[in-house]
Amino acid sequence: MPIRADHLWLYPIDWTQLSQSIRFGRAGGRCEHCRRPHGERVFHLGDGLWWDRHDRRWRDGQGRRVRMPRRDLLREGRWTQVVLACAHLNHDPTDSVAHNLAALCQRCHMIHDGPEHRRRRWLNRHYRCALGDLFHGPYPQLGAPTIVPVGGWGMAA
Ligand SMILES: [Zn+2]
Repeated sequence: MPIRADHLWLYPIDWTQLSQSIRFGRAGGRCEHCRRPHGERVFHLGDGLWWDRHDRRWRDGQGRRVRMPRRDLLREGRWTQVVLACAHLNHDPTDSVAHNLAALCQRCHMIHDGPEHRRRRWLNRHYRCALGDLFHGPYPQLGAPTIVPVGGWGMAA
C-alpha cells in the first residue's frame, strides 16, 4: 500500500530496509495472515480460499489447510497477483517495533485496515464540516473535496 505523502515523515528513515526484513526475512516472502506468496499469481475463490501450488492444497483466509471446495471452481475462481506490504498492526506509523509490524498481502491488509479507514473517513468528513462551520458558514456542497465559501474565494462585492 503506498504511503501518503503527508504521512511520509511519520515513518523511520530506514523504513525500506525494515519493511524488507519483515516481509522477506521474518515472513519468508509469505503473508503472515493467509500465507499467500509474494509476487506470484494465485488462484482464489474471492472469499479467502486459495490454491497453494507449492504445498498442492487449498487454504483459507487464515492460511489453514482446508478440503477442496465443492463449488464451481471455473466459474467462481479468479487469479490475482500477490503483493506483500509491511503493515502497522496498531495503525500507528510512528510505532515501528517488530511486534507491531506484519507482512500482509493486499487482501489481508485491506481487511486489517478496514475499520481504521472507516473511522478516518468519518473523522475527515466531520473535520471538513467543522472547518466550514468555523470559517465559511454553510458549505454549498457537502462532501466536496475542498470547501469553497458561498460566492467563491475573493469575490468581495
Ligand atoms: Zn494475506
